[in-house]
This record gives sequence, structure tokens and C-alpha cells, in this order.
Amino acid sequence: MTSPFDTPERSAFRDTMQSFVAQEITPHCDTWDEAGAVPWALHQKAGALGIWGFGIDEKHGGLGFDDCFMRATYSEELARCGAGGVAAAINGRMISIEPIARLANSDIQDRVLPDIIAGRKGSSLGVTEPGGGSDVANLTTRAHRDGNHWVLNGSKTFITGGMTSDYFVVAARTGGDGLTGISLFFVESDTIGFSRSALPRKMGWWCSDQATLFFDDMRVPATNMMGAENNGFLAIMENFNLERVGLIAGMLGMMKTCLEDSIAWAQERETFGKPLIRHQVIRHKIAEISARIDAVEAWLNMICWKVNTGPMPVAEICKAKFFTSKACEFCASEAMQILGGAGYLRGNRIERIYREVKVMAIGGGSEEIMRDLAVRQMGL
Ligand SMILES: Cc1cc2nc3c(=O)[nH]c(=O)nc-3n(C[C@H](O)[C@H](O)[C@H](O)COP(=O)(O)OP(=O)(O)OC[C@H]3O[C@@H](n4cnc5c(N)ncnc54)[C@H](O)[C@@H]3O)c2cc1C
Repeated sequence: MTSPFDTPERSAFRDTMQSFVAQEITPHCDTWDEAGAVPWALHQKAGALGIWGFGIDEKHGGLGFDDCFMRATYSEELARCGAGGVAAAINGRMISIEPIARLANSDIQDRVLPDIIAGRKGSSLGVTEPGGGSDVANLTTRAHRDGNHWVLNGSKTFITGGMTSDYFVVAARTGGDGLTGISLFFVESDTIGFSRSALPRKMGWWCSDQATLFFDDMRVPATNMMGAENNGFLAIMENFNLERVGLIAGMLGMMKTCLEDSIAWAQERETFGKPLIRHQVIRHKIAEISARIDAVEAWLNMICWKVNTGPMPVAEICKAKFFTSKACEFCASEAMQILGGAGYLRGNRIERIYREVKVMAIGGGSEEIMRDLAVRQMGL
């Protein structure tokens, strides 16, 4: 759909992303996914496009400006390759960049941000624990002060990029129970007391890594605390907003891929003497997929506009996230149905999207938690 928010700069950025994905990613997706990793060179090629520099000062290798439309465009276009693991592998760092840029001390920022943004080093966010991910306010990893250090004990799991990242933003309990007792820490992977192990085989996102992190009397300098003591919960919640916008945009890319591949198949495949596309039932499936794409695209545009102009549209983002994961699930299922048996074979985008849609309904705030938050934002 044509957007009234398009500008020459945004269109040019979309063109750049489209040719980057078409040339550097799509031809290799199957190989990378089966191999379980993307080459590190891809991090650096993506970094060279500036996609992790939105909202980051130029002195740290950032773009010196922010634009939610462009953020959404890069997530949408990355997803068009049809392998969610690629975006998870290279873009997993995105959710740790903003807290580092906003809350880490300036020495840390000067030292690590240019490498993270250029794709030379990886970074991850560690919030979820083996005991649970939804109930962030009750996380149990503990940090206690010992002189000029904080000592962390506990564990995080499902951490995207956890096996390959050098830097981590870790949430730990520094105070009492509940949301007012949580702080954020900057942690380096070579810290004594830090260890990690890879999560076993996953349903999707094969070419990205997820890890369980262990902190065993792990000492970090007191200056590694990010932001004010016991103020971490708010920072985590604020950080979720742009992550969720990126997930919505990624799902839009997945839905567009479903439409593209199911139309192509329906035009080529003949049953009962005519192409599938001439059967009314199939035409209606295409219409239903297309309508959901239009709805999500229009909604996402409005959200991007509100993010740019402020204040952060928290409730709209929550509602759009659960709406879009439901819409994306519908599109993946209908596209799979149109492809028939061919869709069930490995090596096509729809088969992978069908498997990977579920993580979008869980990660970054599950559908249930999104509905809960949306209603709370309504003052209820
Ligand atoms: C591939 C992948 C990558 C991830 N990457 C990261 C990462 O990089 N960093 C990170 O910190 N985390 C990451 N996560 C974790 C993710 O954020 C959590 O899985 C998510 O927050 C849900 O937590 P949980 O899995 O522990 O489910 P739980 O919190 O145990 O919830 C289980 C189910 O119950 C539902 N539920 C929970 N509470 C309620 C309630 N009050 N009412 C109704 N229903 C409820 C949930 O919606 C969910 O469906 C990742 C997860 C996956 C699968």
C-alpha cells in the first residue's frame, strides 16, 4: 500500500534494504539455516548499512538521527528472506543497544558501541530466567554489593545471541521483592564467573543461537550498573516498545512473503483443469491474507508516526503485537494450505514461516501479556 509517510529518504532506504536482502541473504538462507549459523561477515555487512545506528550518536558509530519508519523497514525487509533465524542472529543485538546507549557509563559506551553497531561484536539482552519470562518483576538473579563491585548469582535463558555475544545487558535483583528491586548491569563474556551453554534444537530460528547464561559469584565493577539502582524494571519496559515495533514489522514482512509465494504457486499450479488462482476458495484465501497485510501495514505506519512524534504509544504497540501475531499465524496457515503438499517440504519459505510464526507470539511479550498490558494501559 502506498504510504502518506513515504519520503525520498525512506524509499531509498527501503530500496537499499531490498537489494541487500535479495543479494546477500535470500540465496543463502537454506544453507545457513541447515548449518545452524550465519557467517559473522553478515553482521558486518548489515552493520555497514547503518541499521543499528538509529538513535545513536555519530561519535559512537551511529547515524545521529532516529526514524521509526526506517527501523520498521529494516525489520520488515530482513524478514522477507523467509528465515527468521537470520534476523534473530544478526539483529538480536538491537534490544541491548538502546539500554547501553542510554544507561551505560560513557567509558563503556565509547569502548563498545562502535563495535556493536558496526557488527564487529555481538551484544544481547538477558531478562528471561529458567523460572519464567513473562513475570519480569519477580526475576530472581541476585546482585549484592561488595566494595567497588557487584556480585551476581543466578541464570538467564533463551538469550538470543547468547553463545556468540561479547557483551550483555543483564537484569538482576538488587533490592526487595517486585518491580522496584531490579537493576541492569553491563556484563562482558570473559568475566570470571560467567559461563553459557547453547539451548538444544529449536522449532525454528535454526541459524540463530540462544543460550542459557550462568552467573556464579560473577563480579562486575560497580560502574557497570546501568542507570539508577533499583530502576531497571522501567528501563526494561521502555526497551520493549521498540523491540515490539520491530517484531510487528518483521511479521508484516513474513505476511507479505506468504502472499507473494501463495500467489506465485496459485498461478502456476493447475487442479481440475484450471490454475488454482481461478478457484474461488483460493481467491478468497488470497483476499483474506492481503486484507490482513493492509490492516497491519496501516496500523504500523500510524504507530511509527506516533513513536516519531511522541509520546510512546505503548497500548497501541501491545495491541498491534498480539493482533499481528494472530494475523501472521493465519497467513502462514492459509499460504501453507494453498501450497498443499509442496508447502510441507523443507526448503521453501512458507514451511519455515509456518514453524517460526509461533516465536513471534511468545517472544518480546507473549500474546497473553500484550493483552494484559493493553488493558492496563486503558486504565482498567
Ligand atoms: C527463540 C526465543 C528467543 C528469545 N530471546 C530472548 C532474549 O534475547 N532475551 C530474553 O530476555 N528473553 C528471550 N526470550 C524469552 C521470551 O521473552 C520469553 O519466552 C517470553 O517472555 C515468555 O516467557 P516464558 O517462555 O518463560 O513463558 P512463561 O512466562 O512461563 O509463560 C508461559 C505461558 O503462560 C502465559 N502466561 C504467563 N503469565 C500469564 C498470565 N498472568 N495470564 C495469562 N497467561 C499467562 C504466557 O503468555 C505463556 O503463553 C526468547 C524466547 C524465545 C523462544
